[in-house]
Amino acid sequence: MENPFKKIPTILMPDELMEKALRRGEKVANEMRQKPLPSLIKSKMVEEHKVRTIGSVVADNLQKVIDKAPAVRKLPKFYQEMVEILVGIDEFKKSLGAFKWASDLVKKLTNEYAKKIRRSRTPQQAAKFRKEFVGRVKSILKQIHPEMAFIAVAREKLKDLPTFKDLPTIAIAGYPNVGKSTILKALTGADVEINNYPFTTKGINVGYMDNIQMLDTPGLLDRPLYERNDIELQAILALNYLADIILFVIDASEYCGYSLDEQISLLKEISELFKLPIILAINKIDLIDKERLNKIRDMLKNYEVIEISADKGINLDKLKEILKKRAIESYKSKLRC
Ligand code: GDP
Repeated sequence: MENPFKKIPTILMPDELMEKALRRGEKVANEMRQKPLPSLIKSKMVEEHKVRTIGSVVADNLQKVIDKAPAVRKLPKFYQEMVEILVGIDEFKKSLGAFKWASDLVKKLTNEYAKKIRRSRTPQQAAKFRKEFVGRVKSILKQIHPEMAFIAVAREKLKDLPTFKDLPTIAIAGYPNVGKSTILKALTGADVEINNYPFTTKGINVGYMDNIQMLDTPGLLDRPLYERNDIELQAILALNYLADIILFVIDASEYCGYSLDEQISLLKEISELFKLPIILAINKIDLIDKERLNKIRDMLKNYEVIEISADKGINLDKLKEILKKRAIESYKSKLRC
């Protein structure tokens, strides 16, 4: 789905919002002053319009943030997990609650003060009520300043989360240089999109083959987990919600710079961490002899294995068929849960 946080508008801080509201109030007042009306009536109308304009600019601005922010608990699990890791779901909800409180209170005060101004006996009294109103709105905004700052930061963090489609999804794993991006390109064509992903500098590469989504996740599923801090681990685990199966790629030639033992140990870590079916691609078979291939087959006999060469196009059609079949099966069984 489209990133649900993109629609949250820019959050104005108390001073900026107040300045915007006062400027609009002044503009409306100036228009009012042109009208040919008796002086007391006119002063009261000027003040009332100021109050109503200031009140509605502030209250509407806050309300818009509430309306455009998604209900986190209704989002797909992947996005919920991201909110929890990046900002905290409870804090996010609590802060939006403060926006609601402030918006409602400003609306209520607007009506109260508009009435007081209408009942005023002198222009001075009307002006005094307007000043009092402005003071109260300022103090409400000051009170929710921490929550406004929190939502502003949350918005920055969440608005660049990747957009994924609700399709059967394959996550590709394996050490660097084993051939992951070559496989992604070979199976999905040239249009690989790059999406941001928290905690990686490289972003996630997304490609589509027919109606299947394929993700290459540089920096996430390509090195041992003991090197990761807690937050990185959570970001990796969030892939559980996104992916239906994992394609683990092994470089049979070891030209990638990692031994078979190292690669198998990463494979074991990933199979323990993810509750997903794993398909194993033994890549670069063009670079090894039969004897070595037999040895590798033997080491990996407990897995569903396909031997390929991404570079030379060996067995890629077979890999594609198996991936599609398994991804669709796993996607459907997740839907049933
Ligand atoms: P990634 O880091 O896992 O995405 O690896 P890449 O897809 O960038 O591949 C690393 C290198 O291995 C590149 O130079 C590829 O051309 C090469 N490569 C990938 N697959 C094969 C293969 O099947 N055979 C051979 N000979 N080279 C391959």
